[in-house]
Amino acid sequence: MSNSPYGGSSRQHHEPALCGICGGDGRIDNSFGNVARCPSCGGSGRRREEIAFHDVTKTKEAHHQRSNRAPAVEKQTWPSTHAGAQLATEIRDAASLTAEVKARLTREIIDHEASHGLCTQTFIKKMRKQFRPQPPR
Ligand SMILES: [Zn+2]
Repeated sequence: MSNSPYGGSSRQHHEPALCGICGGDGRIDNSFGNVARCPSCGGSGRRREEIAFHDVTKTKEAHHQRSNRAPAVEKQTWPSTHAGAQLATEIRDAASLTAEVKARLTREIIDHEASHGLCTQTFIKKMRKQFRPQPPR
């Protein structure tokens, strides 16, 4: 009887990892029905992890450079006409208005410009009354 705790023949502690592509026989069947040498292990049937890792890094780098950033749609936040900008400046400097009201009035100027192509004097007067209340005569 053997008194070895390892039990004879199963003593290999350096078992080579088998190639995951070909399964260890070094050959693969391609789509044309031909048998080709495994591109992963080069026909040895053993896994070559270092090389596989290099390939992954390369692919990642190439992908990183092509960032697919869509151009942001620029939202107009300030009137484009001189009269509109002047009015917007008065609104911005008006101490009596809250930031919320200022933003809304400025938006109204931009909308008015968009539909009329300019700021009419009537519109400017009407707007001024909103943030510069005239004392009743
Ligand atoms: Zn292989």
